[in-house]
Amino acid sequence: MPVLDRFRLDGKVAVVTGASSGLGAAFAVGLAEAGADVVIAARRADRLKGTASQVEALGRRCVAVTADVSLPDDCTRVVAEAVDGLGKVDILVNNAGVGTAVPATRETPDEFRRVIDVNLNGSYWMAQACGRVMKPGSSIVNIGSVLGQTTGALPQAAYASSKAAIIGLTRDLAAQWTGRKGIRVNALAPGFFPSEMTEQYPDGYLDAMMIRVPAGRAGDPEELVAALVFLASDAASYVTGIVLPVDGGMLTT
Ligand code: NAP
Repeated sequence: MPVLDRFRLDGKVAVVTGASSGLGAAFAVGLAEAGADVVIAARRADRLKGTASQVEALGRRCVAVTADVSLPDDCTRVVAEAVDGLGKVDILVNNAGVGTAVPATRETPDEFRRVIDVNLNGSYWMAQACGRVMKPGSSIVNIGSVLGQTTGALPQAAYASSKAAIIGLTRDLAAQWTGRKGIRVNALAPGFFPSEMTEQYPDGYLDAMMIRVPAGRAGDPEELVAALVFLASDAASYVTGIVLPVDGGMLTT
């Protein structure tokens, strides 16, 4: 098959969590551009409609499911609606995530647990639900962060722990499922990309962080989408268990 065709996702069904804004919306649209039909999930139904319109404008089918990924039953329902509506699940993008910055001596158990519940546990519940129905040739891409491997200049114990745990989850599921079920499991580790999450940073934070980014700038979501399509597609058929940084070189510094 010609090499560029190996990146095509025609006929595939992708589930993207956290597709109501930011990177998740860009992932849903990018997967649709590559040919996939897309199931999108998040808590804000009104915002999912906007993403669904963009996917459908590309001629792809879209099923929007209002769900909280921290709830295992919601994750099961997302996958059931994907199978009911579009027949199968070939690709899962575990993108839903929350970020907080709270000094460790002040962070409450509920604050810490909520971040782990969404970023780590939610990724696992979604992977479990998809892993039960995915056929050989399927692909899971977990969205980690460079902050799983290094630190920012903010107090982010919960977020950093959750994203470091995504690396362990990715490796373990790859070891369990690549050979036995034919499901590849990888992670992306984004650096800094403009989104609702980065809008919450203190004034001047992003500019100050750029000194640690050899590329000297934040990323464009399109640069992350290209890496996602690679990992999701047959172009990466011999790639599993990795964490791919897309960070302008931040992890080299
Ligand atoms: P964002 O715009 O705030 O998007 C977060 C998404 O997650 C939203 O669509 C939100 O939708 C969804 N979400 C949050 N809690 C959820 C829950 N309990 N159940 C279902 N969906 C939930 O931020 P973003 O930057 O695009 O973040 C996307 C992912 O990229 C996150 O995993 C984040 O950690 C990761 N990341 C981002 C950057 C960056 O620079 N932007 C860098 C590294 C990693 P609802 O509120 O509608 O539920």
